[in-house]
Amino acid sequence: MMIEDGGTFGGGQASGILRLVSSRCTCAECGDEVDEDDEDDLQYVESIDGRVCQACLDRYFTYAHGRHEQAYYREVDCVYCQTDGEWYYNSRRVLDRYDIVECSTDGKYYHIDDCIEVAGRWYLSDDLNIARLDVEYEGEEYARERDTVHTEDGRVIHEDAAAHIEWWDGNTYVLHIDDNPEDYLPEQDMDAANDPDHPINRDALPLAA
Ligand SMILES: [Zn+2]
Repeated sequence: MMIEDGGTFGGGQASGILRLVSSRCTCAECGDEVDEDDEDDLQYVESIDGRVCQACLDRYFTYAHGRHEQAYYREVDCVYCQTDGEWYYNSRRVLDRYDIVECSTDGKYYHIDDCIEVAGRWYLSDDLNIARLDVEYEGEEYARERDTVHTEDGRVIHEDAAAHIEWWDGNTYVLHIDDNPEDYLPEQDMDAANDPDHPINRDALPLAA
């Protein structure tokens, strides 16, 4: 039986001799012992507050930007930034500090300069499914393409800011809700408006008294 420093019991060595194993010589990750002579092979990793052998360090850890500076962290606790090819400790604070964001489309991480924010989510700037709005919508400069419409004069706007206007000429036009239709749509043709036989008015004639 073996009793380690931490007070845990490990089996496997049923020699019947009780001996104290210094944790300084045991890899915190795999539990392998390292001879006193090779103690330098264990590297102290602050993020787990333990010493790790080189094999485990290579396999499970990565050198990443962390809370203070670059240090070793468990790779599963980090994210890989596609923009700069570096690793970042996956915490809100660290990602915010280095402006690293998760792309909603592919789930990968990028520097914020490569991305645009749409309704609280991040997309790559060259994402063809994202359209730049000609009129900001609720403070947003971009929207998903499928949430946009084109106004009569060709502006890209958010569909929720679109007004469908039935105009005097019988056509329905799309404008922004804040637009003054008279600034954009054909002026009313008074001759046509006053001519009951004009095609525009024919269907709208009041019933004869
Ligand atoms: Zn190890």
